[in-house]
Amino acid sequence: MKTKYRCLEPYKSANSSKIIKILEEEKIKYTDIMGNAFVFYLYSDHERTKEILGYLQEKYYMEALFSKEEMEATNWYTFEATRHDIESSDDHFTYQYSCPYESEIGIRYRHEKQVNPYLSKRTPKWKNNYNFCSVNTGDYNKIFCSDIAKMMIENRGITGVEFMPVVNRKNIPTENVSQLRFPNILPREAFVFIGEYTEIVCPTCGKINYEFVQPGYDNIRVKTELIPNGIDMFSAEMSTSRGWIVPPVIVSKKVYNLVVNEMKEKHVRFRPIG
Ligand SMILES: [Zn+2]
Repeated sequence: MKTKYRCLEPYKSANSSKIIKILEEEKIKYTDIMGNAFVFYLYSDHERTKEILGYLQEKYYMEALFSKEEMEATNWYTFEATRHDIESSDDHFTYQYSCPYESEIGIRYRHEKQVNPYLSKRTPKWKNNYNFCSVNTGDYNKIFCSDIAKMMIENRGITGVEFMPVVNRKNIPTENVSQLRFPNILPREAFVFIGEYTEIVCPTCGKINYEFVQPGYDNIRVKTELIPNGIDMFSAEMSTSRGWIVPPVIVSKKVYNLVVNEMKEKHVRFRPIG
């Protein structure tokens, strides 16, 4: 198993020119982020990866790369849609915010709860092998799908999912797109956390947020014996941040087989968790 590291380093950090020099020597691509920082990927089997990681000022995100066999050998996965083709035009319509706090950029909120459908400015242009997407804010676990995907999920008898419309400004549902919702929630006890983490308690409502010391995509496992029988899709009763998406979508092998093996979807990410 190989590890992939996602690194995002500000130009102003002490070693940035040293890092860029090595990336150029090794022909490792990096991408500019609005003139402030650069992003690049490293792999555990490259001989200079350790050296570069040692120069980083910012935390990096780790992701295990699983072989096809390792992917097939598990029964439960996290599921994300990686392309951002829904753009919310009014977050205050869609979400209810709670627990405000003062930050450098003004008042922010610790939690959000979706109370209305997405108001979207644009519609995904679905194609063959592209039937799932997420929102422009980068929350990969907010999943939307085409009518074809909805029909296939329903035809295969996949349980634990509801479909909610996406609407325009006049509150009219947009054609050929639905948001997936997961009414069944797995409790915090159903998860095992991998690696060190701290519990950040919200001072207003007492909700706990889990922050991993070393952020990664593989920080959680699920206790399969605590998953109720006969349900294929779940959300989770917990939120984590810094390297984990809030809160994850957990799906059974039936969903994995449909989306990956049958539909051969391109813009999705499944991670084995149990
Ligand atoms: Zn709170």
